[in-house]
Amino acid sequence: MKKLKYDVVVLGGGAAGMGAINGALSQNVSVLLIEREASTGGVLNQCIHNGFGVHVFKQELSGPEYHEMYMEKLSRFDAMYETTVLNVDVKSNTLNTISISGVYEIKYGSLVLATGARERPFEALRIPGYRPAGVFTAGLAQHFVNLENRLPGHKAVIVGSGDIGLIMARRLTLEGVEVEGVYEIMPYQGGLTRNIVQCLDDFNIPLHLSTSIVEVHGKDRLEGVTVAKFENGHPVRKTERFVKCDTLVASVGLIPENDLVNETIELSDGSGANVDDLMRTNIYNVFAAGNNVCIHDLVDFAAVEGEIAGKNAAHVAKGKELPERMGILKKGEGVGLLSTKYTIAAEPFKLFVRVKKPMGTTILRLNDQKIKTVLAAKPSEMIEVKMDPSRYNMKGNLILSAMEVDKI
Ligand SMILES: Cc1cc2nc3c(=O)[nH]c(=O)nc-3n(C[C@H](O)[C@H](O)[C@H](O)COP(=O)(O)OP(=O)(O)OC[C@H]3O[C@@H](n4cnc5c(N)ncnc54)[C@H](O)[C@@H]3O)c2cc1C
Repeated sequence: MKKLKYDVVVLGGGAAGMGAINGALSQNVSVLLIEREASTGGVLNQCIHNGFGVHVFKQELSGPEYHEMYMEKLSRFDAMYETTVLNVDVKSNTLNTISISGVYEIKYGSLVLATGARERPFEALRIPGYRPAGVFTAGLAQHFVNLENRLPGHKAVIVGSGDIGLIMARRLTLEGVEVEGVYEIMPYQGGLTRNIVQCLDDFNIPLHLSTSIVEVHGKDRLEGVTVAKFENGHPVRKTERFVKCDTLVASVGLIPENDLVNETIELSDGSGANVDDLMRTNIYNVFAAGNNVCIHDLVDFAAVEGEIAGKNAAHVAKGKELPERMGILKKGEGVGLLSTKYTIAAEPFKLFVRVKKPMGTTILRLNDQKIKTVLAAKPSEMIEVKMDPSRYNMKGNLILSAMEVDKI
């Protein structure tokens, strides 16, 4: 077995991985990227729509443009592409990889996990019927259309109103596919408002809220679906309607990808890696950033998190001790997701918050300290909160809650 040794090893070369390489290189350490695909970029490569880079590059780029511009920022680093990591041993600081050039044992000073997220499959919805040809996840349909120049079908129904589904509704329409509608089981949208407007409203594609699929028809090829209204998670009788279609695109959520380390790294209830504000996990030399920590709406947040993780991973690889953790952040009333679990708070940091349900004017509180007011809070839109240790107490048990003004 061939052996290699690096100060910082970055696993995954999407936006967060590129950010981690950038952060580590700024500290003059040796860096190795391991990526299972043939290049860096991750999900950016298949996102040919614009809307990327508003914060980092101050302009609206397509995914591939963002990828190219970010790569131009990076000086030389080593990379192993089309390489699969077989296992990570956090006790001996080694990992094993396999690729066409053989099996390697790689020793690291620090490791950055930037493995992104995978799509929740349609099967997870447990809907009766066969699983004929014509049923896709939204990311897979996007891959076919944008990278392989293939159309999945001619008449499509989209289940779930997450951003990838909304973007695919527009993309398929532009390619000549008839998109019958988007069906969302919740009484509110799953994706960003800008995507509802630009991807559905502008193309007259109806969004059916509180409605979902109750049956799949067809054995070899999809022939149609039955949709029905939903109340409190249950289909409402006599609201069923048959929709003829040959394509079903599911956009029903992303799951942080942490399977390689799920026995050693502490994970949240949403299966993201629990990190502190320096992006360190429960293992002193293992860091995590990007969609495997929490699902980000904006690529810039994943890249910046990566930069923090890479820089601190380099410090630890060089033998520097990071400050101790001072507090633990917990979800309080109204909060569905927090990006950071532990606070070190040596410096101000950004915390990302998602609320549980749509709310009007909402006040975010850290214990009894008011930290932000949001005019309209939606689960689909991440709230960015600046956590400043000179303004707020960030020690001990910290409960972050979100409450609507007229309910306080
Ligand atoms: C369809 C879609 C549209 C979006 N639109 C926008 C937009 O308009 N504007 C915006 O700012 N943001 C947008 N985003 C969000 C943003 O693109 C993502 O949050 C961000 O790119 C995620 O980066 P990441 O590095 O965490 O993950 P990824 O890009 O998924 O990268 C993870 C990488 O890890 C690799 N990997 C995984 N497991 C392993 C392993 N075991 N071994 C080796 N490599 C591995 C993968 O191959 C991949 O390259 C969109 C996202 C999607 C999915």
